[in-house]
Amino acid sequence: MTLIVAKFGGTSVADIARIERAAEKIVKETEQGNKVVVVVSAMSGVTNQLVDYCGQISSMYDVREYDTVVSSGEQITSGLMALALQKRGVTARSWLGWQIPIKTNAIHGKARIESIDTDELHKRLNAGEVAVVPGFQGVTALNRISTLGRGGSDTTAVALAAALQADRCDIYTDVDGVYTADPRIVPNARKINKIAYEEMLELASLGSKVLQTRSVEMGAKSGVPIQVLSSFGDEIGSALKGTLVTTEDKIVEQELVSGIAHSRDEAKITVVKVKDVPGVAARLFDPLAEASVNVDMIVQNISAEGFTDMTFTVPRGEVELAVKTIKENVDLQYNDLIVDNNVAKISVVGIGMKSHAGVANKMFKTLAEKNINILVISTSEIKISVLVEDDYTELAVRSLHAAYGLDAA
Ligand code: ADP
Ligand code: ASP
Ligand code: MG
Repeated sequence: MTLIVAKFGGTSVADIARIERAAEKIVKETEQGNKVVVVVSAMSGVTNQLVDYCGQISSMYDVREYDTVVSSGEQITSGLMALALQKRGVTARSWLGWQIPIKTNAIHGKARIESIDTDELHKRLNAGEVAVVPGFQGVTALNRISTLGRGGSDTTAVALAAALQADRCDIYTDVDGVYTADPRIVPNARKINKIAYEEMLELASLGSKVLQTRSVEMGAKSGVPIQVLSSFGDEIGSALKGTLVTTEDKIVEQELVSGIAHSRDEAKITVVKVKDVPGVAARLFDPLAEASVNVDMIVQNISAEGFTDMTFTVPRGEVELAVKTIKENVDLQYNDLIVDNNVAKISVVGIGMKSHAGVANKMFKTLAEKNINILVISTSEIKISVLVEDDYTELAVRSLHAAYGLDAA
């Protein structure tokens, strides 16, 4: 008997009609004799609204209360999904994070799952019940509700699949799979049939938000196959028509470059005219790390007369914290601090790069031909990222997509 965790994202449970449609798919899965745990997101737009409510009260809100507020969207859809299943003759019950429990650490707002008790869920599944679990939420050791960061329902689903030793985790969304680039930006992007965890991890962390990064990490660690598929057609997960995220050895045809990711969630900070002496980088980046600022790309400009500029990127949401930390805790003399929010990170990802040279060259040449200036570069074994002016995002992604032969015929 196959055990499946099926997750429905916000657009797939956006109203009652869509919840009913999703419930139909679960009915079909159970009719095939499969055991199913359903994970639901909040209705699309609801979490944004809840986040906004908190911000209207204060910009410096208590994150524990933020979690109480924003976790509520999923509670609604889990109850509604259970009702929709019951109406169809399926025995179904909702299980909130604290009832299972899904235990997390106490980093409210971006908590990590530490353990999931599966005893009761297994009992219910064995008795022929469908369990409906709200995504995105857990409970801390102090019995407070926590949330897993935006997009966290993917992580709930994969973590449950891993803990239950499920055969597959189906992620139903508004696209029918993982594409070679965001189909909203590149209309002739191609659907990928199978992709390695490692590549999916890079794509997700570099901006392809079709899966939350943490969910892919969990998939890789546990080996549970993840399928990304559309909730809109008649197909169910067991037809295996989506994109399968799996181990590298299961992929027969490996492309040199698998996909292009982009992220508009970046900001560039330049510390102007610091003394170019040993230890400068440590004095700048140690306090930032201590303040939990995620510094990503870094360049140190050419030194002139003993001085240099240090440029680096941080997530846009962390700019304020980064600037405050530099002003208050960094023991360095500098002339100016320049923040530029008008940037985007464009990345080329592919396992094939490990064994082939020339991928970076092609990227730089393609961007140069389009007159796109590269502000910062960073590379790893299977990806190359560049920072460009935000206005060039679409042009950069589309021209790289074409240059690496990824456009659909
Ligand atoms: P959900 O609400 O179901 O969690 P998301 O909005 O989080 O859905 O993720 C689906 C979206 O991810 C798609 O609508 C698409 O615009 C975006 N996306 C970004 N990169 C990719 C990619 N490479 N392949 C498919 N979708 C992508
Ligand atoms: N509802 C949450 C969000 O919008 C979690 C999720 O949908 O994955 O971020
Ligand atoms: Mg999502």
